[in-house]
Amino acid sequence: MNVADMDDLAARLDAAGGQPVDDPVRADLIMVNTCTVRAKAEEKAYSFFGELKRLRRTDGTRPLLVGMGCVVNKQREELAKRFPHLDLWLDFSDPDGVLAALRQSFAPLTALDLDAEFTPALDTGLSPLRFVTAIRGCNHACAYCVVPRARGPQRDVPLDRIVAEAQRLERAGAPDLAVLGQNILAYGTTSGDKRRRFVELLETLLGETGFRWITYLTSLPGDLTEEICERIVAHPRVTPLLHLPLQSGSDRVLADMRRGYDLGHYRRLVAYARQCRPDLYLTTDLLVGFPTETEEDYQATLNAAEELGFDDAFMFAYSERPGTLAARKYGDPLPRGEKLRRLNELIARQRAWGKARNRRYVGQRLAVIVERIDGAAAVARTAFNKPVHLPAAGLKVGEYALTEITSAKVSSFAGNAVP
Ligand code: SAH
Repeated sequence: MNVADMDDLAARLDAAGGQPVDDPVRADLIMVNTCTVRAKAEEKAYSFFGELKRLRRTDGTRPLLVGMGCVVNKQREELAKRFPHLDLWLDFSDPDGVLAALRQSFAPLTALDLDAEFTPALDTGLSPLRFVTAIRGCNHACAYCVVPRARGPQRDVPLDRIVAEAQRLERAGAPDLAVLGQNILAYGTTSGDKRRRFVELLETLLGETGFRWITYLTSLPGDLTEEICERIVAHPRVTPLLHLPLQSGSDRVLADMRRGYDLGHYRRLVAYARQCRPDLYLTTDLLVGFPTETEEDYQATLNAAEELGFDDAFMFAYSERPGTLAARKYGDPLPRGEKLRRLNELIARQRAWGKARNRRYVGQRLAVIVERIDGAAAVARTAFNKPVHLPAAGLKVGEYALTEITSAKVSSFAGNAVP
């Protein structure tokens, strides 16, 4: 989501007549977006804010420095005290709001036409835009998670605005589309008809745009239904990627996490999704070291991961986030070393399982979108968002190509273009 927001801001500034620069000291404006989902992300933001202090031009002036995003939402006053060299702190409700706030404090912006129709030009060096945000914030209350506090309650972007945004990306040459929300399946549940809104969102986008691939991220397992599997997961223009964060394989830990589903429910959903979509590419998030996780619970996560056959997983050690239910109720009783032992073992085993699963593509032909060309080498991405390394001859950034996969690693493939 942060990448999507920054791509969007960069494209608007670009369309308004701004110019990206390579050397930060030459910039007029530096905007730093932040994440607080784990303590490490927050620390990275602070150390980067610290480094910005040294950023001075030879004449003593410096760029306008703006801190934004989740760290700001939590503690604007403390930040202003700790990093007085930053000029402005903005929380991030949406890109329009950020630009409106900036316009008031940054003179060169008043000269730029911020309402200019922006195009995600592929030749500016910006990555090809393909994200459209459908939901901001989150209404769930997973015990470990700071997102609802850092990003606020769920706000749905109106359907007509999402469609207009998607059509603008399409006109500008975006090869595919990814629709984003903390729990995208909850689209529309804060207003109107509560049952069918995600299906309506995707079907409207499929009808009103010609994208060959549409992806949706992220799906909370408790909100996945058979109807969604049949109408969306199975749709030929929807990518086979289903990112369905399991978090834990222990029902007791899932209940303590307040995830709202159990392993049996998850297992049945995955079986049904695979029945509807035989080429399903299933990815997940796994979180080990939750305060109430015993060795047995952790083993249940390993067993579940092996049994369910995730094609890839993002794996994390529990990081206590102030203000969350888990922090209040349980603290952080597991030693760091123990959490890391569990994480490292899980990563090693999931890598081996994922690699074995990815081998099913060797010898197969897959459609890809070319992302980058570096001399003779190109990187493309599959419909399920995995990089494929291949020779660049005859390829163009932003276009579809067909590859034959020659080898599979854990999280990437090598292949050759086929005509
Ligand atoms: N809204 C999405 C994901 C949000 S954050 C969802 O519900 O799935 C992405 C991932 O970070 C989560 O899925 C979880 O695995 C991990 N995460 C969130 N809070 C965490 C914490 N306090 N410590 C460690 N990992 C965390």
